[in-house]
Amino acid sequence: MTIAARWAEVKARVEAACERAGRAASEVTIVAVSKTHPASAVREAAAAGATDFGENYVQELVEKRPACGDVRWHYIGRLQRNKARFVAGQVALIHAVDTLELAQELAKRAAGTLQPVLISVNVAGEATKGGVTPDTAPALARAIAAVPGIRLDGLMTMPPPADDPDASRPAFLALAALRARLSDDLGQPLPVLSMGMSGDFEVAITCGATHVRVGTAIFGTRGTVST
Ligand SMILES: *Cc1c(COP(=O)(O)O)cnc(C)c1O
Repeated sequence: MTIAARWAEVKARVEAACERAGRAASEVTIVAVSKTHPASAVREAAAAGATDFGENYVQELVEKRPACGDVRWHYIGRLQRNKARFVAGQVALIHAVDTLELAQELAKRAAGTLQPVLISVNVAGEATKGGVTPDTAPALARAIAAVPGIRLDGLMTMPPPADDPDASRPAFLALAALRARLSDDLGQPLPVLSMGMSGDFEVAITCGATHVRVGTAIFGTRGTVST
């Protein structure tokens, strides 16, 4: 199957999930996760209609980007503070901010632009993954919302891998509930919920996802990279 055909299939599945959920398809952005795939794959997906692309290795993004044409980039991986300067002001949205220090560094490096970010929340509380716990999210959200140069747009999560898409539902619902609470708490809208990947994006859409991060279903299986 070509990338164009897979893209069309994913898009149709997103639209069908939106319709089942009583949502407009325009409410959901498909972030095509192109990590480990070459620039030619990005161009192929863009030609088929994809507008938003996600990377989670800094070096790969920096190297690939010039050959990809005019597309919107999302940084979806964990970001080390010493690499913030390669991403700040360079991407439409940074999905996985989990410390105030990182947000401050991004603001410093964004050089006068307003950098939109999401806080990554580890809803299931796994110790090995990035992201804050739901308990510590409110304090971090308040602190980040007060950093000039940063715009806190919402939350992202990545539930533990599971064969059954429905296994992700509790995490997605918890993230949506947390978003509502934080938005009340901050007195500002938090419009973005980044959740759902190839295996569970339809469930995420029924739970309110505004950004689904879909790699394998669009680009095929990945090799591994050592970054
Ligand atoms: C790789 C990755 C994805 C995409 O995963 P697929 O299962 O290939 O769709 C989504 N989000 C993050 C944070 C990732 O690292």
